[in-house]
Amino acid sequence: MPYEHILVAVDLTEECDPVIKRARELAGPSNAKVSLVHIVEPMAMAFGGDVPMDLSQLQQQQFDQAKERMDRLFNKYPEINRGDSHLTYGQPRQEIHQLAKDQHCDLIVVGSHGRHGLALLLGSTANDVLHGAPCDVLAVRLQKKAD
Ligand code: AMP
Repeated sequence: MPYEHILVAVDLTEECDPVIKRARELAGPSNAKVSLVHIVEPMAMAFGGDVPMDLSQLQQQQFDQAKERMDRLFNKYPEINRGDSHLTYGQPRQEIHQLAKDQHCDLIVVGSHGRHGLALLLGSTANDVLHGAPCDVLAVRLQKKAD
């Protein structure tokens, strides 16, 4: 069965290009819908929830910057379904799974750095998204950057 709705999780770095391109290739033959999702993690969450300062302005800047980057991707890849794409606050695994369920996606595509050893123990989003996913998950192997 060809995929009908592919959800691409993007971290909005230059590394999301190979991930989107792979999703487009898969969508091509069946003309599947391709949507994007980016999750902005609340700063308080990143700092462990115990920060003695107001982070709301910084948080808003982070969100605005993410929106700008999403818009750039929509311009670059006009075939992406803007209406079903999402930019939201939260925890990536939880939000990506919920969105995939709500939008009846049959494939989630994420990038993977192929970490191993200690780096793997620290966790990766691809790994996290795979566990308990409501549909198939494709991890697109990302090239290691030359130092
Ligand atoms: P990481 O494990 O954080 O290096 O990210 C690997 C992949 O997970 C990225 O290529 C994206 O597909 C996805 N990803 C990471 N962070 C986010 C995020 N904040 N929102 C959506 N997808 C993300």
